[in-house]
Amino acid sequence: MKLYELGIKELKELYRKGEATPKQVIAELLQRTKQLNQKLNAFITVDDENASEQAKQSEKMVKQKDAPPLCGIPIAVKDIFTTKGIRTTCASRILENFVPPYDATVIRKLKDAGAIIVGKTNMDEFAMGSSTETSYFGPTRNPWALDTVPGGSSGGSASAVAADMAYGALGTDTGGSIRQPAALCGIVGLKPTYGRVSRYGMIAFASSLDQGGTMTKTVYDSALMLEAISGFDPKDSTSADVSVEPFTSLLSSGMSNITIGVPKEYFVEGMDADVEKAVNDAIAAMKSIGAKITDISLPHTRYAVAVYYILASSEASSNLARYDGVRYGYRSQHPQNLLDMYKCTRAEGFGREVKRRIMLGTFALSAGYYSAFYGKAQKARRLISDDFDRAFKQCDVVLAPTSPTPAFKLGSKLDDPLKMYLSDIFTIPLNLAGLPGISIPCGFTPDNLPIGMQLIGRHFDEKTILNAAHAYEQATQWYKHKPGIH
Ligand code: GLN
Repeated sequence: MKLYELGIKELKELYRKGEATPKQVIAELLQRTKQLNQKLNAFITVDDENASEQAKQSEKMVKQKDAPPLCGIPIAVKDIFTTKGIRTTCASRILENFVPPYDATVIRKLKDAGAIIVGKTNMDEFAMGSSTETSYFGPTRNPWALDTVPGGSSGGSASAVAADMAYGALGTDTGGSIRQPAALCGIVGLKPTYGRVSRYGMIAFASSLDQGGTMTKTVYDSALMLEAISGFDPKDSTSADVSVEPFTSLLSSGMSNITIGVPKEYFVEGMDADVEKAVNDAIAAMKSIGAKITDISLPHTRYAVAVYYILASSEASSNLARYDGVRYGYRSQHPQNLLDMYKCTRAEGFGREVKRRIMLGTFALSAGYYSAFYGKAQKARRLISDDFDRAFKQCDVVLAPTSPTPAFKLGSKLDDPLKMYLSDIFTIPLNLAGLPGISIPCGFTPDNLPIGMQLIGRHFDEKTILNAAHAYEQATQWYKHKPGIH
């Protein structure tokens, strides 16, 4: 087995035993990334120099017993997190040459934990999309089939981890952007409870929904990274002051005392037959390892996509007003006057999907329409959230497919926004409710494309979904399958 094929847990063991060194690991990884990134376009920026320097610095420390938890571990970061001195583009022309003067809180936490930041990964522009095709830097490809999308918007992070170009990655999830690409690339994606992970330095899309999280090869690694990046942050006004549990040591392989709810609304007509079968098999597997299974109902699910696209676009239209060419970012070259400068900067700097969202959001918030659209959507959001509260009286975890289909062909949904938006149908409801969710591999299609399922938990109960995911993963071992790309 090659070093790059390992998970974080195994690599840490090798470090401790002195059987591998960060310098060796980074050299191998950068070599692989150089080769593969030409095909996959998973990274916008690879920070060779910095990564090699950090590897050198962690050389001695990795062997020590009290080494920080991610010491010498190469991690990729979605290009939505500000990184001091490293260009941060959000995959947009408007931030093409933006080099932030500060680190996002999660970046600082990763560094404190000893991680090596290897680079910034590709994404849909401003995280708006489900396929990583709206990036100004071109689409990312799925390592399982190069003519398919990796999902999105954190598609670069998913592709990088699935293709063994990083041991773990950061993503963000506003309506599914961690879980859906994780499912389509056959890895583990965890969207924590809203407020668990600081949003400071995470470029804002829809502030009431955005949440940073982890993308890893195994559930254990996800728990480990979550421990490192979680915690109260006074710099984020919606950060929650709840203690960070030792998620890794709470993992056990047992499932007794866990009741899993299966929502009937998530098994809809039109769902891909392979996905349906894989998820049904997973339910049976959960039962065989001791979980109790019960049917539940989340009746307002059908409004989730509409509600989300009104609220997320409204918030985006307001958040993106800051890109005006004045203080930072792209500025149009030959404007006639100040107003023209604003207009041209935004017309030239933003891509089509971002403009579509700004227009949708501005319309939904405009006088006379505000209560008909935004106000109504807020009310429906509450009903969706109440559905989950009721469900969690009957069960501890909700199990559902992550995405209605496996990876789709590049270009197949790009000209049909509604089709693209509908691919988020199973991921969006829990963002609206602020709940944690984890997507884990649960099988493959006959064409060898990965399928994922998600486990949804109560607020701040990451512990229980991590545990259930871990028990299932150990029993089924899907994570051992690799795309085998060279
Ligand atoms: N696909 C959804 C959207 O385009 C979700 C994106 C996300 O979670 N960042 O809005």
